[in-house]
Amino acid sequence: MLRKVQKIRFYHACRRYNIALYTALWQPRAKDVVATLTLSASRHIRLAAGADASENPSLHFYPWQRMKILILGAGVIGATTAWQLRQRGHEVSVVDRRESAGLETSFANGGQISASHAEPWATPYAIPQALRWLGRKDAPLLFHLRPFDMALLSWSLAFLGNCLPRRVRANIRAIVNLALYSRKELQELRANFSQTEGSDFNLEYDGLQKGILHFYTNPKAFARAKAVASLMRDFGLLRESIDRETCIRIEPALADAKFIIVGGDYTATDESGDAYLFTRAIVKRAAAAGVVFHYEHAATALDIENGRVKGAHLADGTRLFADACVLAFGSFSAQFLRPYGIRLPIYPAKGYSVTLALAEGANAPYVSLTDDEHKLVFSRLGNSLRIAGTAEFNGYDLDPNPVRCQAILARVRRLFPTLLENAEATFWCGLRPSTPSNVPLLGKSALPGLWLNTGHGTLGWTLASGSAAAIADLMEDRKPEVDFPFQTADW
Ligand SMILES: Cc1cc2nc3c(=O)[nH]c(=O)nc-3n(C[C@H](O)[C@H](O)[C@H](O)COP(=O)(O)OP(=O)(O)OC[C@H]3O[C@@H](n4cnc5c(N)ncnc54)[C@H](O)[C@@H]3O)c2cc1C
Repeated sequence: MLRKVQKIRFYHACRRYNIALYTALWQPRAKDVVATLTLSASRHIRLAAGADASENPSLHFYPWQRMKILILGAGVIGATTAWQLRQRGHEVSVVDRRESAGLETSFANGGQISASHAEPWATPYAIPQALRWLGRKDAPLLFHLRPFDMALLSWSLAFLGNCLPRRVRANIRAIVNLALYSRKELQELRANFSQTEGSDFNLEYDGLQKGILHFYTNPKAFARAKAVASLMRDFGLLRESIDRETCIRIEPALADAKFIIVGGDYTATDESGDAYLFTRAIVKRAAAAGVVFHYEHAATALDIENGRVKGAHLADGTRLFADACVLAFGSFSAQFLRPYGIRLPIYPAKGYSVTLALAEGANAPYVSLTDDEHKLVFSRLGNSLRIAGTAEFNGYDLDPNPVRCQAILARVRRLFPTLLENAEATFWCGLRPSTPSNVPLLGKSALPGLWLNTGHGTLGWTLASGSAAAIADLMEDRKPEVDFPFQTADW
């Protein structure tokens, strides 16, 4: 029986090889024709002889589909995309203006890998809440009046449109789907790395798989959150509403805050870890696998030939050529495409983080936490505690506002009264690449040859692995495994 199956596979391999031969003859360069034919023949012979394509990703596609791909940006999104595409056998290079990977928004974020954080900012409750905070410098959400900032104006109008209940539901569904898929991809990636011999390739990023506890100190917000948790459960996310006692049982470090907590939601399957360490580890492995990183090179423009993107121009006057490019410039993606008449709905939302180097025996949480009232998250990263959050709309400004930094520390003191004793605090600001819906832009752009993997806003670390796998599928003309509203050349 097995021999018969192999015979049939061999017959089909030979038929496809004829098609390969025919297609290869149309390749413009002779050396490509030879390479294509050799690889094609070897692929078919290996498959026909029973090689397992699931163990060798390069066997999945035909060699003439092997692309030369340029990734624009080496944050957590660009890095995972580069790794994913290289794994599939493509020739990949990455360009970034910084001296190494992950030095911008992916550098010191909240550390949560949180499908449970899928509720977008735009909800019917966002407007009254924003009005309540208006003019308060320490407010979790702060809008600076920028009358001539047309990008902020049109972003804000689109944000209002996304506050409609029907839109909120669709946005939550899209984000939960991508987040669950992403978690599966991350788990597979971890398994894949751990099978590799040698400590050089360990995927170490202070990861913890202890779930995420979202706690509430406002009874109205807790009551409303139960409906959101129930909606997320409908979409397949196990987010359970729990009472105050259960919150303290799950994370005993919250005991001092027991009487201000009214309840919580616990998602046991969520995780946490350091996005920067992860990005560095992926980049190291990708470089060893042949991905070429061009650091300290700012891309100034796309290289467009006959209406098709063929690479990018760099600030030093050089050009990088590619069959396809993936835009992963985070908050700078919209600026980069504006000269081509493309207006991506991405606006930078400044967020703050404080990293506390913990003193010996500090009463710091291990379970990653979300404080709903103050829009802060807490993640244990090795011997540090990362506290991050709040949003400020003030263009591309990255200066930390001391009032907001102190507001974060005041909340830490309220929740964990002894934690700041002898702990050293490092402040940081980053620009979340935010879309009005919180749903990232994944898929085709209006420019043939340019793909979008950007606009991940509050959840870039959570969504990175799934976004990378999905964009790679789209580029290879496959249907991604996740149900998601992919871009179809509108932007
Ligand atoms: C305070 C805060 C807390 C957060 N907490 C979480 C969290 O807990 N969980 C979560 O999932 N997400 C969180 N996020 C969001 C997450 O950090 C981002 O969504 C993610 O880092 C975006 O990654 P990126 O690769 O798109 O962008 P970036 O990391 O900014 O990478 C973009 C890269 O493009 C490069 N670049 C830009 N323009 C050019 C150019 N012209 N030429 C060359 N290179 C260029 C930059 O140098 C940069 O390296 C948080 C964000 C903030 C600010």
